[in-house]
Amino acid sequence: MTRRDFIQRASALAVLPLIPAISFESLAAAKVPLDDPAAKALRYVEDATLAKRADKMGVAAAEQVCSNCRFYITANAEGDYAPCQLFQNRLVAGPGWCAGWVPTA
Ligand code: SF4
Repeated sequence: MTRRDFIQRASALAVLPLIPAISFESLAAAKVPLDDPAAKALRYVEDATLAKRADKMGVAAAEQVCSNCRFYITANAEGDYAPCQLFQNRLVAGPGWCAGWVPTA
């Protein structure tokens, strides 16, 4: 084995421990950033009490939160966050809200 071969193999082995971490990170759903253009357009907030809401579809404004929205996928919740179909299944806060809120069926 030449010195060059040794260095190339050592370099390749040094990267191996990083692969599971990278894969795990890419599989984890990302939270919707508050400065995301879609989030801004829909006035998404992580705390619904901070949003200016109006009564909608027979539901009082104060009762509208992500966790009772049709687009919130409770089955895939991770703590206080769950995927939102309106945000391409990125995570939104259960106590949050956005203008796309629709009551569960
Ligand atoms: S669509 Fe529903 S679950 Fe998604 S961010 Fe808006 S209020 Fe929350």
